[in-house]
Amino acid sequence: MKLLVVEDEQKLAQYLQKGLGTAGFVVDLAHDGVTGLHMSLEFDYAAIILDSMLPGMDGLSLLAALRTKKQTPVLMLTALGKVEDRVNGLQTGADDYLVKPFAFSELIARIQVLLRRSAPPQQETPSNRLSLHDLEMDLARRKVSRNGQRIDLSAKEFLLLSLFLRKQGEVLSRTEIAEQVWDMNFDSNTNVVEVAIKRLRAKMDTPFDLQLLHTVRGMGYVLEKRE
Ligand code: CA
Repeated sequence: MKLLVVEDEQKLAQYLQKGLGTAGFVVDLAHDGVTGLHMSLEFDYAAIILDSMLPGMDGLSLLAALRTKKQTPVLMLTALGKVEDRVNGLQTGADDYLVKPFAFSELIARIQVLLRRSAPPQQETPSNRLSLHDLEMDLARRKVSRNGQRIDLSAKEFLLLSLFLRKQGEVLSRTEIAEQVWDMNFDSNTNVVEVAIKRLRAKMDTPFDLQLLHTVRGMGYVLEKRE
C-alpha cells in the first residue's frame, strides 16, 4: 500500500519512510508543498501524511487544493499547542491530525484507522458464508450459528469447522485435519484432533436434533446431513 509523506524536515521524513516501510507500506517523499501537491494529484495514494509548515506552499493550502480534486485520506502533522492549526486542518478536509512530536506507534495506529475508514465496505459475497442444513458460518464476522442460535467457538474450533464446511461430504483423515488446522506434522500418538472434535461436537452438534459431524471408523470424520 502506497503512502505519500510531505515533510520538509529531512531527518523526520527519512525516519518516517523507513519506519513505515518496515510496517509494510511503500512510501514516497515530498520535501515541499508544491511537489507534494503535484504528487498527490498525479498518483493514487492510500493516504497522505502532511506536515502543516512547509516551504513553497503550506500544508493547509495543499490540502485545500487537493480537496477540490481528490478525497485521499490525509493525516496532518501539526506543531504542539497550535489548536488553530488543527481546527483549520479539520475544517479544510483533513481526516485526522497528529501533534509533533508523536510516538511512531500512534502514527501507525492512526494510519490504519484512516485506511479502514476509507476502504470500500466489504461485499456480502457468497464466499464469506458457509452453511450446511441449519448450520451457518460467517467468515468475515467470525460468527457461527445453528438454527439461528449463536455458537461460540475457539479460534481452532472455528478453523476446524470451516475446514469441514468447505469440504462437506468428504471424509477427512486425522492427518489431513491436523495438517490443515494445526499446521504440524502429524504425530499419531497425539489425540489433539479427537479432543478438538469432541469439543466442537459438544457445541455444534450435541445440543441439536440432527447430528452433522460423523465419525467414519478407521478413516476419519465427515460433515454431512444424513436423513
Ligand atoms: Ca515542517
